[in-house]
Amino acid sequence: MSADGVLHVPDNPIIPFIEGDGTGVDIWPAAKLVLDAAATKYHKTIEWKEVLAGQKAFDETGDWLPEQTIADFREYLIGIKGPLTTPIGGGFRSLNVALRQILDLYVCLRPVRWFQGVPSPVKRPEDVDMVIFRENTEDVYAGLEVQAGTPDAEKLRAFVKEAFGWDVREMSGLGLKPISEFGSKRLIRAAINYALSHDRESVTLVHKGNIQKFTEGAFMKWGYQLVKEEFDDVAVGWDDCDGKPGSKLLVKDSIADITLQQVLTRPREFDVIATMNLNGDYLSDALAAQVGGIGIAPGANINYVSGHGIFEATHGTAPKYAGLDKVNPGSVLLSGVLMFEHLGWSDAAEDIVNALEATIADKIVTYDFARLMDGATEVKCSEFASAIVDRL
Ligand code: NAP
Repeated sequence: MSADGVLHVPDNPIIPFIEGDGTGVDIWPAAKLVLDAAATKYHKTIEWKEVLAGQKAFDETGDWLPEQTIADFREYLIGIKGPLTTPIGGGFRSLNVALRQILDLYVCLRPVRWFQGVPSPVKRPEDVDMVIFRENTEDVYAGLEVQAGTPDAEKLRAFVKEAFGWDVREMSGLGLKPISEFGSKRLIRAAINYALSHDRESVTLVHKGNIQKFTEGAFMKWGYQLVKEEFDDVAVGWDDCDGKPGSKLLVKDSIADITLQQVLTRPREFDVIATMNLNGDYLSDALAAQVGGIGIAPGANINYVSGHGIFEATHGTAPKYAGLDKVNPGSVLLSGVLMFEHLGWSDAAEDIVNALEATIADKIVTYDFARLMDGATEVKCSEFASAIVDRL
């Protein structure tokens, strides 16, 4: 990363990877096969460097998230990971959340689009083409929560009564939901920059500001403020143009509950979406369901200022399928495609997407799609990857 914020990528970068627990042993080699083949077409070679996290790390080092792993991600900027087991009583709420917080990966990027031939529960899945920017470091995920009946909860209950006159029922768990101006603006800035550089028409700020005025409502207010402060020449807020932005990028907002309806009934009205952590969590899974489910939904966690990015499968470890060479490698593979795009390797990225679509169009699919398609040939995880490579 240079001082001007541009990522300079050699033709043979070293990229750390976490294989992942459970089905990680199946999906990672499958994804790697396709990523390597696509890179080779463009005379690029990735030197993969395994770094440890999760069960494998614990078994080999006694540590769920070794310091060396963090150091490697810091040094090499970019990395990719399979799913990780959440350690029970291991000192971490979640390894994924820990990685995001330690590296301050403030954007969770979730593009949601349909690939030709993928079975979908909706009539026109081709209308779904959205990119979610979910804030990754704040909101109820910040971990400020106390358990009902504990001395901490009683202390907090007494404090809010004394300081604010708030009556909280006895035996209540309590949590804090921090939403800051800094956190909101940097997330929305990233979403607007993405929309501008990818020729998108709008950014929708999704919030529940009608009820949570000073957290979610403030997120929306800061978003519109940012448009005026930093993007006045290229973007415009809905109220300032009556919804008619001309050649500028339109920034609008939508209440979270109606958004969940409208992404289903009127998906074409949504393009880039910027939202807080919890809304983003709900929205990305709901949307993924419309275009084929979590077996194929990619994700990335990015800090656009430092250049750090970890690209990851969005599903879990699916332990019942571990080692069976059965599950869909699409999620981690398409996360690799996002990584290639981030590296500026857009030709190789596009080739993978085309080859994946061609494979599905030929009805060569893993079990999750096969059970929803007529006349499909069900193949193993590794065979699916080979079929994609054949079509590259
Ligand atoms: P999960 O592993 O995502 O599995 C839930 C279901 O999703 C599976 O039973 C399977 O559905 C489907 N599925 C998952 N991966 C798939 C794939 N690659 N291809 C096709 N279908 C796939 O969720 P979970 O069982 O709730 O969680 C298991 C563990 O994963 C937990 O330890 C959890 O904490 C962890 N987790 C990690 C991450 C992460 O690392 N990013 C995310 C979520 C959960 P069918 O049974 O219908 O076939």
